Amino acid sequence: MTGDPFETEERQALRDTGRRFAEREIAPHLDDWERDGLIPRELSKTAAAAGLLGVGYPEAVGGEGGDFVDYTALVEGLVAGGASAGLLAGLFTHSVSLPHMVKLGTPDQIERFVKPALLGEKIGSLGVTEADIGSDLPATRTTARRDGDHYVVNGAKMFITSGARADFVTTLVRTGDAGAQGLSILVIEAGTLGFTVSRKLDKMGWLCSDTAELVFEDCRVPVENLVGPENGGFALLMFQLMSERLSLAHQAAAVAQRCLDLTVAHTKSRVTFGRPLISRQAVQHRLVEMRQRIELSRTYSRSITARFVAGEQPVAETCMAKIAAADACSYVVDQAAQLHGSTGFMRETEVERHYRDSRVFRIGGGASEPLADWTARILGYTE
Ligand SMILES: Cc1cc2nc3c(=O)[nH]c(=O)nc-3n(C[C@H](O)[C@H](O)[C@H](O)COP(=O)(O)OP(=O)(O)OC[C@H]3O[C@@H](n4cnc5c(N)ncnc54)[C@H](O)[C@@H]3O)c2cc1C
Repeated sequence: MTGDPFETEERQALRDTGRRFAEREIAPHLDDWERDGLIPRELSKTAAAAGLLGVGYPEAVGGEGGDFVDYTALVEGLVAGGASAGLLAGLFTHSVSLPHMVKLGTPDQIERFVKPALLGEKIGSLGVTEADIGSDLPATRTTARRDGDHYVVNGAKMFITSGARADFVTTLVRTGDAGAQGLSILVIEAGTLGFTVSRKLDKMGWLCSDTAELVFEDCRVPVENLVGPENGGFALLMFQLMSERLSLAHQAAAVAQRCLDLTVAHTKSRVTFGRPLISRQAVQHRLVEMRQRIELSRTYSRSITARFVAGEQPVAETCMAKIAAADACSYVVDQAAQLHGSTGFMRETEVERHYRDSRVFRIGGGASEPLADWTARILGYTE
C-alpha cells in the first residue's frame, strides 16, 4: 500500500484480472478479429460474465460497483495483457453510450438499454459526429421533430464506433433552435424503420473495431427514448465527454507503457554490432525519455481523475490531460517502432498495432486543436 488511490491492493488485483483476461481471451485472437474487421459478440458476454463490463457502474443499474478509478485500473490491466486501443473501443463502447442514461435515464431505459449492455447482451454506440460539422458539435444538423408520441429523425452520423453491430445508438439530435441549447439525446434502436447502416468504414487502425456511417430517414423513435430533458442534451454530452476524454488519456498512457515494456525487452535481447541494443547510452536515454513522458502524463491524468471522481468538473484540465497523454503516446509508439527496427514495421509485432491504433488518441473524443481552443477560452487566454 502506498496511499495512492490508484495503487490500492484492490486496484492492483483488478489490473491483474484485466491482464489475465486479455492474455487468455483477447491477445490470441486479435489478428483474426482485425482481419474480420470486428470483435465477436460472444466476447462481450464473456467479459460481462468475468465481471469486467460493469466495473465503475452502480449495482442499481446492473453494474459491478466501483468507480472511474477502478475502470482505469481495469483498462491498464487489459492493455498490459495485450489488448489494443481498438479492442477497448469495440468492447467498451458502452462506456460512451450509457453514461447519459446512468445519470438521467428513466427506469425503463435502464432496463431496456443499460442492464442488457452491461450483461454483454446488447451493443450500444454513441452517435454524435456528423460528416459536415466535425468538431463543431453545437452545429449538429440531425433533426428530431416531435410528432405525437414519437420523434421523426432525419440526418446522418459519421465515424460511429460499433455502429455496424449496434443494437441501439445514443444519438445527439436537434429538437430545438440553433446552437447547443437546441440539442437532445435520443436512443435509436437498430431495426427502427428508416435507420440504416449506410457504410462500414475502412480505417488505418482500430481494425477489430467496426466503424460506421448511420443514416436516419423519417425514422420514428418513441418519445420514451428521450434521455433527460428535451433540449438538455448538450450538458449531458459534456458530462459524458469528461469521462471519455479521461478514459482516452489513461488508455494512451497504458498503451505507451505497454510499448515501453515491449521495447525494453526487445532492446535487451536484440544484439547489434556484438552488443545488446540496451547497452548503448543513446538507447538508454531514449527509454528514459519514453518513461518520463509516460510518468508525467499519467500522473497528471490521475490527479485530474481524482478530482473528477470527487465530484469536480475540471473541464480545462481534462482537455489538457487528454492532449498531453495523446502526445506522449505518439512519441512513445514512434520510438518503440524505431527501436524495433524493421520488426516494428511487421504486422506480427505488437508495437506495430499500437502505432496504428494510437493515432486516434489525438482525434477521437475531441481532436487536440479544438480541445486546446476550448481550454484557452476557459482559462481566459483570449482577446
Ligand atoms: C476510429 C474513430 C472512431 C470514432 N468513434 C466515434 C463515435 O463512436 N461516435 C462519434 O460520435 N464520433 C466518433 N468519432 C469521430 C471523432 O470524435 C471526430 O472525428 C473528432 O471529434 C474530430 O472531428 P472531425 O473528424 O470532423 O474533424 P474536423 O472537425 O474536421 O477537424 C479536422 C482537423 O482540424 C482541426 N481543427 C478543427 N477545428 C479547429 C479549430 N477551431 N482550430 C484549429 N484546428 C481545428 C482538428 O483538430 C483536426 O485536426 C470517431 C473517429 C474515429 C477516427
